[in-house]
Amino acid sequence: MTTKEQDKQYIMNTYGRYNVALVKGKGCVAWDEDGKRYLDVSSGIGVNALGYCDEGWVKAVTEQAGTIQHMSNYFYSSQPSQLAEKLCTLTPFTKVCFGNSGAEANECAIKIARKYSFDKYGDGRNEVITLHNSFHGRTVTTLSATGQDVFHNYFFPFTEGFRYAEPNDIDSVKALLSDKTCAVMIECVQGEGGVNILDKAFVQQLRQLCDDKDLVLIVDEVQTGIGRTGTLFCYENFDIVPDVITCAKGLGGGLPIGACLCTEKLENVMQPSTHGTTFGANPVACAGANYILSVVADFKFLGEVNIKGEYLRRKLLEIKGVKSVRNLGLMVGIELEDKDAHDIAVKCVENGLLIITAKTLLRMLPPLNISYSEIDEAVEILNKTLQEDNK
Ligand SMILES: *Cc1c(COP(=O)(O)O)cnc(C)c1O
Repeated sequence: MTTKEQDKQYIMNTYGRYNVALVKGKGCVAWDEDGKRYLDVSSGIGVNALGYCDEGWVKAVTEQAGTIQHMSNYFYSSQPSQLAEKLCTLTPFTKVCFGNSGAEANECAIKIARKYSFDKYGDGRNEVITLHNSFHGRTVTTLSATGQDVFHNYFFPFTEGFRYAEPNDIDSVKALLSDKTCAVMIECVQGEGGVNILDKAFVQQLRQLCDDKDLVLIVDEVQTGIGRTGTLFCYENFDIVPDVITCAKGLGGGLPIGACLCTEKLENVMQPSTHGTTFGANPVACAGANYILSVVADFKFLGEVNIKGEYLRRKLLEIKGVKSVRNLGLMVGIELEDKDAHDIAVKCVENGLLIITAKTLLRMLPPLNISYSEIDEAVEILNKTLQEDNK
């Protein structure tokens, strides 16, 4: 059986896949089983922060895999300790909880918010306000947190205690406030929802509101974090400090890891046996993350992410058929004039460009170290695909 046949026969049918089986990659380039070359501006949904098989990253994870690959969280371990120190030194946060994915990091954030409130105010103050069009994960609780009705189906009953407000409308948030509210949870740029960049004023109003009412402000940085938007974390663009942030995707550079970070105010909320996961803080994944941060958490590197984002945006806007471009750093949404984004994405893949969509937009999340000539090539393939489609 071929890979595709095996997949269709034995893997549950939960993903719509492009008709490509990738076998290897280097930097921004991947090859399929027939040896065909693809330029990749999707990075496995923003995961391969430094592209495929970056030399330093491979060295870090293989060395760790050959030293000690896993121990349980009942023992101390140097890679996660170093990673936690790095994260807390680079940010205003004081403690980290490691998990394996974005959804899990968000579960941890929600638990921290609810327990903070429970400890201080007692039972019943547990509601979390999230935004319409948000995406926070696929567990039963993070689906609940996700402010899109299409996700609230089949799996009833969903976790209670989530209310949905309109992005960029502080009054719609205030209208949902009650003595049950304990937290507000947002993505500063909604990724899956269509690369919607929140207004700075709105985010600052949310910060103020959370201060006034002692609500925990959670910023989901799973997609936006680790340099993606030209700052180490996206909230920095909004001149606020959240109480809790979550990250995952780009953090491990290609290995599964999630992290939930909190400020000093919340650092003792979680106690032994309130949270945990067997694979959390895996040393190989943490070694990868330590390497990623050693490269990405650098003023010059992050400056380049911004410059490349601007360069890519300018080039995209020159393409006939592109209506608008929304980006913060290298998190890029492309609105097309009259074509279906998914159709065009499929045709781009046939033409050698791995690109994804977000709602009705094309989306690019290229490796953060993409070169200018690779940006040119990506734009050229998209342009060619859009013009071909007019014939
Ligand atoms: C991808 C994503 C998640 C879920 O992360 P998983 O690792 O797939 O569980 C949560 N929040 C945001 C903003 C995401 O983009």
